Amino acid sequence: MRTIGLIGGMSWESSAEYYRLINQQVRDQLGPLRSAQLLMYSVDFGPVEQAQHAGRWGDAAAILVDAARRLEAGGAECVVLCTNTMHKVAGQIQAAIGIPFLHIADPTGQAAVEAGTLKVGLLGTAFTMEQDFLKDRLAAMGLTVLVPEVEERQAVHRIIYDELCVGVISEASRKVYQQVIESLTARGAQAIILGCTEITLLIKPEHSALPLFDTTELHAQAAVAFALDN
Ligand code: GLU
Repeated sequence: MRTIGLIGGMSWESSAEYYRLINQQVRDQLGPLRSAQLLMYSVDFGPVEQAQHAGRWGDAAAILVDAARRLEAGGAECVVLCTNTMHKVAGQIQAAIGIPFLHIADPTGQAAVEAGTLKVGLLGTAFTMEQDFLKDRLAAMGLTVLVPEVEERQAVHRIIYDELCVGVISEASRKVYQQVIESLTARGAQAIILGCTEITLLIKPEHSALPLFDTTELHAQAAVAFALDN
């Protein structure tokens, strides 16, 4: 088995999901007492979040490049960055290491293409919904990506940072997300990408009339496929 390297902490609420999903999938594939060989370097989200909102992406990248190098030095054979938003600096991380960087958009886009759902709604932080770093990679795979309207984006973003990243799961916020999904559906979305690794804590398949592509689950699956060389 190859050793997975996870960069976590953004937030740790979703890193815990990655840890659980990766181990569950290894157990399902290899047997009841089997588990993943992995390292996690979990950063302090505070300075990263401050750098994001101040537009100091270079400072955030430096923290993550340092984390990736530590994982490689510790024996990790790939790097999995457990957040969509920080894929904005994916290129800088990959350039700093000699092991593969498993980009979160790749298994996500592939799942959508394989399901034949070419027009997808994207939920995530404002950075992910408004900037091009994730959308362009999905578009290059043949997907048309719709994002919520401006006020909806503000609500989706606020709920991620004020609630989901601090472990608050509220029925009122679930309803907000469901309304946003309905309006994306009315605009032609055939499926929804949960493009923030905490949204899976709030929105499950039974909460959406449209199929969901959950980046946390798909990224964890890609890590396991790498580790088991499937
Ligand atoms: N985990 C989130 C994401 O997937 C948001 C937190 C962050 O900004 O890293 O984008």
